[in-house]
Amino acid sequence: MELRDLSDHVEYRAGRGIEEVARELGRDPEEFVKLSSNENPHGPSPKAEAAIRDAASEVHRYPKAVHSDLTDALASKWGVTGEQVWVANGGDGALDYVARAMLDPGDRVLVPTPGFTYYGMSARFHHGDVAEYDIRVAPGTDDSEDFALTADTVLDAYDGERVVYLTSPHNPTGDRFTLDAVERVGDETDDDTLVVVDEAYGEFTDAPSAVSLLDERDDVAVLRTFSKAYGLAGIRLGYAVTPSAWADAYARVQTPFAASAIACRAGLAALEDDEHVDQTVETVAWSRQYVHDELDARTYESHANFVLVEVGDATAVAEAAKRAGVLLRDCSSFGLPEHVRVTCGTREETKRAVEVLTEVLDEVV
Ligand code: PMP
Repeated sequence: MELRDLSDHVEYRAGRGIEEVARELGRDPEEFVKLSSNENPHGPSPKAEAAIRDAASEVHRYPKAVHSDLTDALASKWGVTGEQVWVANGGDGALDYVARAMLDPGDRVLVPTPGFTYYGMSARFHHGDVAEYDIRVAPGTDDSEDFALTADTVLDAYDGERVVYLTSPHNPTGDRFTLDAVERVGDETDDDTLVVVDEAYGEFTDAPSAVSLLDERDDVAVLRTFSKAYGLAGIRLGYAVTPSAWADAYARVQTPFAASAIACRAGLAALEDDEHVDQTVETVAWSRQYVHDELDARTYESHANFVLVEVGDATAVAEAAKRAGVLLRDCSSFGLPEHVRVTCGTREETKRAVEVLTEVLDEVV
């Protein structure tokens, strides 16, 4: 039997945890610091942990089809209606729902390169085709030294795609789009083109969310996740804030149970712990600055919980750092063979990462 050819999807799943790396190297997992997946170094909120424990006794029951307590809480946080909030199995799941709502077979989407791989995968799962805008090339030049995100870069590549993805802050570079740029992309693309603004790292920037644009526009959807600032990556909870004109669309695209009961309870509790998010954002701001200041390598200004670093041979540097106990992201798979991405850890983790990278750069370069 012939299966669909989705062979280039394998790379996304290649991210490895400490246990696996420790086993490969025959070492103790305790020896490693994982700064390769932009996770929260403080873990989840204690309130979310308690909610997870409480929810455990009810897991023989199916969850609600629509978690109205969570969607209502998110709606009031963002000043939208509950129908606009599409809860899903992680931000990835929310991307799938948007693709499902938007794409007919053969429709094209426009994605950033280098950029978050799942946009293209999700589109292809839904029988869409993928076109790219290259953030390494600034309009009017041959290349962009600093990966600056501009509306022109997107619009120069735009050719009637159904969905345009803007990541703000961007993974893996850390830059962000201004709201003016988002609006320009919306204004200068077709009326039936949706602009998805992915704010997975939105808590780490002081820039306003694109959700504010939804008051006036029905061509923008915003993606958010509990995986980063809320420290709930393992629970798989994310959501899209969608145009008010789509009020009845969620029921048509969601899976019967869009997110688990445990995930929704944890998310609701996490929303009530601003202090935990504030503490995370503060640690990230400190670590980000530390990497910029202390590392003797080119770093890029970041509005997210990671810093992109130019290192020369990214694969060799990431491999040497791994052996020295620090897991970083080799950005070759993003199409950046000379860069690694360092997640902002606790102060101790970040100091260790800078120390190891400094040693490795001396040796490898
Ligand atoms: N968007 C971006 C830009 C990301 O980097 C990620 C996670 N790496 C996601 C969305 C999805 O995250 P999750 O599915 O964990 O919510």
